[in-house]
Amino acid sequence: MIRAIRDFILLKRHQTQSTHDEIKDYQLKKLQALVNYAKENSPYYHEKFSGLKLECLDDFSHFPTMDKDTLMTHFNSINTVHIDRQHALDFALRKERDKDYLGYYKDRYVLGLSSGTSGNKGLFITPKALTKRLPAVFLARSGLSLKELPYRILFLLRVFSQGFSDINAPFIKLKYLSTMTDPKTIIATLNKTKTNILMAPPSLLNQLVPHCDQITVRLKKIITYAEVLTAEDKAKFAKLFNTKIIEIYQASEGQIASPCLYGNLHINEDLVYIELYDHKQQRIDEPHRIGHSMVLTNLVNVAQPLIRYRMNDMIVLDESCPCGSSFRTIKNVLGRDDDILYFYNKNNQIDVVYPDLFARWIITESDLIREFQVTQNRIGHLDITIDTTAEYDVSLLKRRIHDELAGYGLTSKLVIAIAPIALPKDRNKYKRFVSYVKTNTSRSSYD
Ligand SMILES: [Zn+2]
Repeated sequence: MIRAIRDFILLKRHQTQSTHDEIKDYQLKKLQALVNYAKENSPYYHEKFSGLKLECLDDFSHFPTMDKDTLMTHFNSINTVHIDRQHALDFALRKERDKDYLGYYKDRYVLGLSSGTSGNKGLFITPKALTKRLPAVFLARSGLSLKELPYRILFLLRVFSQGFSDINAPFIKLKYLSTMTDPKTIIATLNKTKTNILMAPPSLLNQLVPHCDQITVRLKKIITYAEVLTAEDKAKFAKLFNTKIIEIYQASEGQIASPCLYGNLHINEDLVYIELYDHKQQRIDEPHRIGHSMVLTNLVNVAQPLIRYRMNDMIVLDESCPCGSSFRTIKNVLGRDDDILYFYNKNNQIDVVYPDLFARWIITESDLIREFQVTQNRIGHLDITIDTTAEYDVSLLKRRIHDELAGYGLTSKLVIAIAPIALPKDRNKYKRFVSYVKTNTSRSSYD
């Protein structure tokens, strides 16, 4: 309990009172300690980092990067707690098959499997000592105010884990339901447990939309995660569920960003060290430029050090936030680099449209469109499925998208169909954009 209070105060102080210079100093010290620990305890890093000096943050940007493939290929020599990849994978897959989400591996670790196609799953190790400290992180960084305690949370995700369960604390009650649960059951549970905080991915909230008038409890907030929350969905949910919508941005790799009391997302600069790069691999530090890749270092988990780990999340930084925090502010999360849509322009060159803009065209076209999925098979060729709450004339959406694209001088071939859209039955995330186009051609872009 005392440690939880200390953690909470420290996390709050970092977020609200640290200056830019103090954050940079803190990050450098954490990175130096992490790198030294990894060199001593992980054969992989011992070899990779041999001879590299780390006297300033600029030195760090020359360290080698890694990714999920590296992590899985060198799993045994990367982790510092002697966990064998096959043994751990067998354990995690067996737990998942049995829907037995609770319990620690060897009594000491939470194992997290990230979504991905088979053969591309990531396996992440978090020590129990760290997950037991999650209530403090949650209290300090969920964008909820202490005035809203006690929290009665209904938590919806594809899978559960001991790590989430460890959020439970005297004033935090967390009930889990799978996102595969029937919407009516979800709402009945919401009402019965007197939930005041609903946590769910945006795609699940969209499933609840047709039934939202059945909710009888007063929700203090809805927290979304796991998928991009578009500005349009955010406004729609706020209106329909009659509450404030905030977003947490986290991945198996770390707690990347959390909302402040103003509801703006800030990078958790004391938990992760995030570097952003544009599509020419130039470093981005200023607001309003699109980051095409993110290089993450987890500053708190030394059991499986993730040091300069490449992710293809695309984010845009914002000006500093009125809350006064020196933590960098995220203007929006655009999705993954592989969600980008490609078109030909009048000069037969390839141009791109970012998924957030394309989503906006669809969502704002009609309130009847509950959910959608865009599949890109070839450049400029899109198959779009929409799930509607009532009869809808698809030619309206077709015209709208044609016009928007034509406004940028882009041509397209669209096939639009109405069909029910269900969430994936396996552990994978619902994807609004599915692309089979691979291109490295130079391009201009619209955002
Ligand atoms: Zn803020």
